[in-house]
Amino acid sequence: MKEACGVFGVYAPGQPVARLTFDGIYALQHRGQESAGMAVSDGETITVVKDMGLVATVFDERTLSALQGHLAIGHTRYSTHGSSDWRNAQPAYRAVGRAGFALGHNGNLTETDTLAERAGMLPGVATSDSDVVAGLLAAAYPGTASDPADGELAGVIQAVVPELAGAFSFVLMDATHLYGVRDPHGFRPLCLGRLGEAGRPAGWVLASESPALDVIGAAFVRELSPGELVVIGPSGVRSVQLFAEDQVDDRLCIFEFVYFARPDTRLHGIEVHGARRRMGELLARQAPVDADMVMAVPESGVPAAEGYAKESAIPYGQGLVKNRYIGRTFIDPDHQARERAVRRKLNPLRDNIEGKRLVVVDDSIVRSTTIRTVVAMLREAGAAEVHLRVSSPPFAWPCFYGIDTPTRAELLAASMTVPEMTAYLGADSLAFLTLDNLKAAIGAGGVGFCDACLTGEYPVSVPLADDRLRAPGDRPGVLQGALPGV
Ligand code: SF4
Repeated sequence: MKEACGVFGVYAPGQPVARLTFDGIYALQHRGQESAGMAVSDGETITVVKDMGLVATVFDERTLSALQGHLAIGHTRYSTHGSSDWRNAQPAYRAVGRAGFALGHNGNLTETDTLAERAGMLPGVATSDSDVVAGLLAAAYPGTASDPADGELAGVIQAVVPELAGAFSFVLMDATHLYGVRDPHGFRPLCLGRLGEAGRPAGWVLASESPALDVIGAAFVRELSPGELVVIGPSGVRSVQLFAEDQVDDRLCIFEFVYFARPDTRLHGIEVHGARRRMGELLARQAPVDADMVMAVPESGVPAAEGYAKESAIPYGQGLVKNRYIGRTFIDPDHQARERAVRRKLNPLRDNIEGKRLVVVDDSIVRSTTIRTVVAMLREAGAAEVHLRVSSPPFAWPCFYGIDTPTRAELLAASMTVPEMTAYLGADSLAFLTLDNLKAAIGAGGVGFCDACLTGEYPVSVPLADDRLRAPGDRPGVLQGALPGV
């Protein structure tokens, strides 16, 4: 599974912000590795630089020194809707109004075709859902800013965004103002930070995750509320709720806690690393087993494995070494190629494994290639028993809200029971953390989450005819199971 973008924005009068933006999107590299970009304004002109590749590949010293200005947005992208090519690298820019505007998007819209039609785009012309939003905003220019101090894009955002459906955390800018927007379900995170603590020059920052604030010395202020627009400019920060009360329903993606977000990120006031450890502790209580060593599938399984080991009092050890120089360079076309990719990435520590009964902890099982190959490698290395423990419930439904997941037909849990999965993976036992225990481990009492990929309960309507929803054995037009939220 791949996260679908990191967004960042900074407004700091009197300061050059291109390097701050570089540091911000560098801290968000895990959210997208296909392309990177930034737009910078000096108050008069917006300059955009973007290209395919990692942040450090796209930007060098010379490029950064040429980007002058005190206002910027930045973006790291992984494609879920729209192909992986230069046209879809962000920020997206449209030359309308005084100096145009730029947009960075994290998430996925759900009614892109209807919206594209409304933006006057011919079918097939829009290259991504973010392109559609940029088209809708451009078509709505000149905007009617509710307050002239808010910048020319503010009124346009207020007119267009309430019409959108799906998942979106946007950072936007015109020549003079920075804007942040979250969809009314708050699927994807977005937080506000402040520069100027400890005698540093003042300013405001927006970022997908809080570590992007830490690395530039900004203090965390708060998360944007679902449905909120913040307008940042010479007169400070102003907040507007874009949606009616009955449209707002807090549903942060629960997989941000399980897998996507950095461990040092805080969401709903909770540090992700601690939540992942607690998932492991509750998993140990829920699914104990007699074993000699607890190990993780590196790296995302490590905190949960540590938690499992602590709670079960079984020693924690390293069973696999990860080649840290492997990045995402190509999409593996078939099962065998994906299996080879797992073996390139992970290799067993034979002396630690041989003759031992192992508890192997991973954060999720999606398509199963990784974990099935890992079980085979551990057995080849002499493991006596392999007990799989997964720190999230079975992943049985595809995501439509900004995460790149396989189709339902490719999801192991969509077509197999737990005993069938155990046999297929070649494990001695297999257990998944329950949804109740997952929520208890996160500990954000009373806060709602999106858990559609675990339950099939989609908070925002999804296209029922979409092939991604078909499980093996589904007849055309008839889905296995229900989609209760639709
Ligand atoms: S469907 Fe799953 S991955 Fe997608 S937003 Fe909801 S919880 Fe996150």
